[in-house]
Amino acid sequence: MTYEVKITKTNHSTISTVDFNNIPFGQVFTDHILVCDYTNGEWGQPEIIPFGNLSLHPATSALHYGQTIFEGMKAYKTSDGRTVIFRPDRNFARFNHSADRMCMPNIPKEIFIDGLKSLIDLDKEWVPNIHGSSLYIRPFMFGTDGAVGVRPSDNYKFVIICSPVNSYYPEPIKVIFETHYSRAAFGGTGEAKNGGNYGAAMLPTKLVQDKGFKQVLWTDSKEHRYVEESGTMNVFFVIEDVILTPDLSGRILHGVTRESAIQLLKEAGFIVEERPIEVSEIVTALKEGKVSEAFGCGTAATIAHISHIGHDADVYELPPVEGRKYSTFITDNLDAIKTGKLPDIHHWLETI
Ligand SMILES: *Cc1c(COP(=O)(O)O)cnc(C)c1O
Repeated sequence: MTYEVKITKTNHSTISTVDFNNIPFGQVFTDHILVCDYTNGEWGQPEIIPFGNLSLHPATSALHYGQTIFEGMKAYKTSDGRTVIFRPDRNFARFNHSADRMCMPNIPKEIFIDGLKSLIDLDKEWVPNIHGSSLYIRPFMFGTDGAVGVRPSDNYKFVIICSPVNSYYPEPIKVIFETHYSRAAFGGTGEAKNGGNYGAAMLPTKLVQDKGFKQVLWTDSKEHRYVEESGTMNVFFVIEDVILTPDLSGRILHGVTRESAIQLLKEAGFIVEERPIEVSEIVTALKEGKVSEAFGCGTAATIAHISHIGHDADVYELPPVEGRKYSTFITDNLDAIKTGKLPDIHHWLETI
């Protein structure tokens, strides 16, 4: 099957109404979207159309039974004026991995990657040329059968929307170990980027936010003994110059930022351990003042420094962000690669 993207351009670009220095996160969208339907056991031709609402049957199965998956990646302007996407092949692979777990069809590379490149090429004026800003890219897929009844949908819709975003400079965050609720069960869907995982996380997150924390630090669902991840980020701790991060247990997301950070750290000769990490190990090190850094890692923020870690009624404060060697190393190196200031020796950039 060969796929060709059919393009219908908008007559009403909204780009002149956007203040690229002040964009509320995730609320401004580019002029076009890509849509592609799966029917009768095969993908149709991808189409790029003007941004607008989708029309759905009221029984749309994804709304009832949760067959819905997504991805998140970013396009950047390099210092020499190119438009690049960071490691889209990893997001493509993860998307189909999520699809497998949710009993949804895989999508061909020609639709996901080539469609993505056509869409960004058409809307490339929307990729901000401001340090720290980027174009957030959100591919998603959901079951569209108009029928009630629990079974895998026969029909699906794949869509890509894009949203320019400013640099994400949040304050360092306060997190707390969650020891009642769980994000992901053993044998569950923790390593898929499916909608239900995020819906299930909202109440526990809201409850800790009411207590002044920003995010929960998830622990395993069986014993609440091992650390998992935090919000939409993988998590790292530095104890006496050893960089620790939970291994890919099947219950955490395979973060592209996590994978890239581990590779850069190891290449620089730092010690990284990917393994089960006990909550008690972190708490003991916190009590002894041995945790020099803790941070979340993901596409939205790259690095989100953690300032405080709560455990039961105790709250431990971490050293100031200024002295943090490893998280600064990751931020600086990833930024320099994405903007073309460091040579792309790993071939992580896809130029449009
Ligand atoms: C998307 C996501 C991440 C981070 O993945 P990146 O590929 O680095 O953006 C981590 N955890 C969860 C739960 C996520 O949804």
